[in-house]
Parts: sequence; structure tokens; C-alpha cells
Amino acid sequence: MTLANGRHYLAIPGPSVMPDAVLQAMHRPAPNIYAGELVDLTHSLMPDLRRVARTEGNVAIYIGNGHAAWEAALANVVAPGETVLVPATGRFGIGWGEMAADLGAEVQLIDHGKRSPMDMARIEEALRADKAHKIKAVLAVHVDTATSVRNDIVALRRVMDQAGHPALLMADCIASLACDRFEMDAWGADVTVTGCQKGLMVPPGLGFVFFNEKAARVRQAMPRVSRYWDWAPRANPQVYYQHFCGTAPTHHLYGLRVALDMLMDEGMEAVWARHEKLAGAIWEACDAWSKGGPLELNIADRANRSRAVTALRLGEDRATRLRDWTDSQAGVTLGIGLGMAEPDDPAWHGFFRLGHMGHVSAGMVMGMLGAIEAGLTACDIAHGPGALEAAARALV
Ligand SMILES: *Cc1c(COP(=O)(O)O)cnc(C)c1O
Repeated sequence: MTLANGRHYLAIPGPSVMPDAVLQAMHRPAPNIYAGELVDLTHSLMPDLRRVARTEGNVAIYIGNGHAAWEAALANVVAPGETVLVPATGRFGIGWGEMAADLGAEVQLIDHGKRSPMDMARIEEALRADKAHKIKAVLAVHVDTATSVRNDIVALRRVMDQAGHPALLMADCIASLACDRFEMDAWGADVTVTGCQKGLMVPPGLGFVFFNEKAARVRQAMPRVSRYWDWAPRANPQVYYQHFCGTAPTHHLYGLRVALDMLMDEGMEAVWARHEKLAGAIWEACDAWSKGGPLELNIADRANRSRAVTALRLGEDRATRLRDWTDSQAGVTLGIGLGMAEPDDPAWHGFFRLGHMGHVSAGMVMGMLGAIEAGLTACDIAHGPGALEAAARALV
């Protein structure tokens, strides 16, 4: 007997739960890619994507995942031999820096480790030390999905301005967009990258790069940009195929249209408030469990935590045992730890993550927490009482 039958819940930090309406919109025959509905639909996506990122700037869509969006953004503004500053706060910050290095950039890494947000003083110091203004861009991950740290992009903009440094502020909002509040223009990000399979609730396959006029000018001064990554024709196409440098991602566009409709109907303020409230319930439950056992939230200070993902520490092999139990016995798949230990290190089995991004409700979060509570008991992992009561109180 198993209690895992019924609708399975993938509670990992991406791909996120997809709304049935998104899936149904994708279930259709191939549309004409030269004229008609799909062309109009694509144009209708742009203003709503801008509303989600809170920008009046440009947006280019790529067929690709978040890694593709990383590369697309870099390819438009950083030439081989140029320098980028990478204030990393987890595996994803490190990864974006590695990609820049592979593209020939000089990477100046400030590694903040696995449990801390960006230290603005260290960043300001690095910018001030760069008297020749060799640093062309700062690669900032808003929410690092590995550590679940949330960085303060407003404060980063402030120290860049204080240092009088002209580098581009590039923000990775792949985990955070449409979950954690993010306001590209008001916060002063020049470039924002994201993907479609997290807060945007669409199956993996689309990457987005938003860029402002300053970034567009940097692009114009580049010696060359590959035709595929070039954001200029994608953002301002003369003919439809230029949007995608070839065949459009037809079905993803239909899915994205519905996902954006859902976000617009809910309203971005309400979307952010929902994620805030649900994350608060998860943290309350974790605090209660941690009072009587080994569970620990990876990020101690609430102000530095993401509202989209929560990284947790259980130690020894407990996280893997718990994940196996909830997956096979309760129909809830929890996320693996990422970047906290090497996969061949036994310590790897002590980390896990909860995804709470996108199409999630109070009922789903309470179900996930209930499955964890049962799993902790079934796996004989010590934990404090009252987690579900505490989570429920946080929801009202
Ligand atoms: C998921 C994620 C990525 C990578 O996206 P893929 O679609 O897996 O390539 C990069 N950065 C952050 C912050 C992410 O959450």
C-alpha cells in the first residue's frame, strides 16, 4: 500500500507546478508561423512580460533555458578579454561566472559562500579599486536557488552609483521573477534574465533577456555579436521570424499567453503577497521542527530569504531518506540540495530544498508541510512539535 496515489506534487524549485490552463492551451495542432493568430499573440506577450519585470525596456525571447538566457545576456555586452564582477552567493552565481569565463571574460569573483547575501561593502571596495573601469558588468543573482538567499538589488545599485562605476547591473531573476518582488526600472537593473519554468509556470524551454537603453548602447559598441544571441532583432523585429532567429517556439507561446493572463488577472502585487505569505508559513513550520531536532534553515535572517525556494539542512543522510519517503509514500517530491556538497560526498544527503514558486496555494503548501511532518516521523528524524499549527497561523 502507498499513499502516493492521486495527483503528484513536484515541490522542487523548478520546473514549477504548471496550471492545467497552461497545459490545455498548449494542446493543439501546429499553428501557422507566418501569419495570423500566433503572430498577434507573440506581440501581445511583450507588454505583459514588461509588466511582470516592471520595466519599460526591451525584451528578447530565446528558445532555451536559463543557462541560454545567461549566455544570451553575456554575448550582447561582454567581449572576450573584458572583465565582469561576480558577487556569488551560491551555485548559480558561481555558474553564471563560469559561463562568462568560458566565453572568454576575465571573471573577478567575490565568493560570499553558501549562507550569506552579498556584502555591499566588499562590492563597493572592488568597484572603487577598479579605477580604469575595466569591469564591464556586475553579474548579480537576485535569488540564488541553491542557497535560497535573496540579494538586495536596490542596495547593489546604490553602491555602484556611490562608487561612480559605469558597469552594467545584470540581474539573474530566473528563480525570483513573479515570486519575489522585483522592479527592474525602479531598482536600476540594466539587464534582467529569466526563464519560463519557474514563476512563469510554463514548461522549460523559453529564456528571456530584458535590457534598457544603456545596455542597448553597450551592445551597439560590441565588435560582434552572434546572430543567434543578438537581442536587437529579437526585441525589434522587422519580420516575425526575427523574434526567434528562425521557427517560433509555437506551443510555449500559447502556454505563456495563458500564464501571463493568470498573473495579470491576479495582479503582480497580489502575486508577490501570496508568495510572501506562503513562504512565511513554510518558515514557521521549519522553525518549529528545528526546535526539537537537526533541521536548520540555510539562511538565518528572514530578510535575506527567497519567497520562491527554501534551502534546508538536515545532516547525515536524513534529507535523502526524507525525500525518498515523501516521494514514494506521500506523492510529494522535494528538491535535492544543490551546490552545498559534491554529489559523491556523503554530506550531499543532508541537504534539501522546497520549491514554492508559481502556481502554488495555501492548500498545496500545507499538504507539502504535512507530508514532511509525516516523513520526519516515519524516518525517525527528531523534530519539534507544532509545525503545522504554526504554519496555519501564518496563513491567516
Ligand atoms: C533555475 C536557475 C538557473 C538555470 O536555469 P535553467 O533553466 O536550469 O538553465 C539559473 N539561475 C537561477 C537563479 C535559477 O534559479
